[in-house]
Amino acid sequence: MNIHEYQGKSILRKYGVATPAGHVIENLSQAKDIIKKVQSESGSEKVVVKAQIHAGGRGKGGGVKLADNLEQALEYADNILGMQLVTPQTGDEGKKVHKLLVEENVYYPGEEEPKEFYMGILLDRNTSKIVIMASTEGGMDIEEVAEKTPEKIVKEWIDPRVGLQAFQARKVAFALGLKGKSLKEGVKFIYALYKAYTDSDATMVEINPMLKTSDSRILAADCKIDLDDNALYRHADLAEMRDVTEEDPFEVEAKESDLNYVKLDGNVGCMVNGAGLAMATMDIIKLSGGEPANFLDVGGGANPKTVEAGFRIILKDPNVKAILINIFGGIVRCDRVAKGVVEAYKNIGDIPVPIIVRLQGTNAEEGAKIIDESGLKVTSAIVLKDAADKVKEVMA
Ligand code: GDP
Ligand code: MN
Repeated sequence: MNIHEYQGKSILRKYGVATPAGHVIENLSQAKDIIKKVQSESGSEKVVVKAQIHAGGRGKGGGVKLADNLEQALEYADNILGMQLVTPQTGDEGKKVHKLLVEENVYYPGEEEPKEFYMGILLDRNTSKIVIMASTEGGMDIEEVAEKTPEKIVKEWIDPRVGLQAFQARKVAFALGLKGKSLKEGVKFIYALYKAYTDSDATMVEINPMLKTSDSRILAADCKIDLDDNALYRHADLAEMRDVTEEDPFEVEAKESDLNYVKLDGNVGCMVNGAGLAMATMDIIKLSGGEPANFLDVGGGANPKTVEAGFRIILKDPNVKAILINIFGGIVRCDRVAKGVVEAYKNIGDIPVPIIVRLQGTNAEEGAKIIDESGLKVTSAIVLKDAADKVKEVMA
């Protein structure tokens, strides 16, 4: 689960990760009071107005603005709140801005120039470890740094059973060239960030930029956190941070019906029991000349209710030209699934696209018979190759 920058920073603060002072605006009527509050907390007229959306690159898209005073901050807030923000990560349609974060300006002048670093902690599935990634090339696209100058990214792997060791935090801070006060703060920062990461069951915490201010403080100027969905049950406070307006509406609806659904860009919808079979079915669709419109695992008990919910979600996607249902009857019997399909079909009414149902396993023949005798626009197949050919036929 993704959360907003301001929510991520509220987690970081609990663990002692230094962040700029800031508050959120949800509607324009709050803007004046909040801006004044940030100004008085920071002792500076200058504030930064930041769009809160679940996508990075906001700076490039015009979603992060430095205001010199209250008047200008109000103007930026007025412009950005409600705008359709397009960044390199949102796609052309952009994302609507529902919230703003107003923060103190931490790029104030001083003895040294402020310096931007990159600091990320993530799960490395290949080594089953946690990896800290850091770079002196912060503030910009880390993917680009990784591609063009990979030597500028340092990595430190942490065994989760042992946890982050003092020498490791120091090694990373040294690699960034931190010295004196900023070295001390940097080590503390890395420790606190690691604790925030592990305690909240995050899969990624990314601070870009991690800022060294002109007076050598180390701050999280930006924050992106991904939380492990499977661990949310033990973090009621974090689960509440979910913002469904930022998620794909199809996926939100699917989650409510307990379906594992991921929206894709293709034209053949599919409904399958079991994630592995769903992946194989997507391959079959591709091999038949179609493109999968979704991933959908209805789980073990493909009953009429889940089948109907699956149908409804798939049919909301106007790109869908055909639907392939692929069910292996292991625990669930194929004749039951077939009845479910027919029932769901009748409940929904006229389904405008052809449906191919492939049932294999217990009572497969009976299932196929029920489909064939239903009189509906549904074709049955028992062998997967047969199903693939039928998809090919309707796609032609
Ligand atoms: P992103 O573009 O979505 O990653 O958003 P960031 O929070 O990283 O902001 C983008 C850029 O805005 C940063 O790289 C900074 O250069 C700049 N920025 C962020 N906070 C401040 C601030 O307090 N003062 C100034 N002057 N610039 C800031
Ligand atoms: Mn950033």
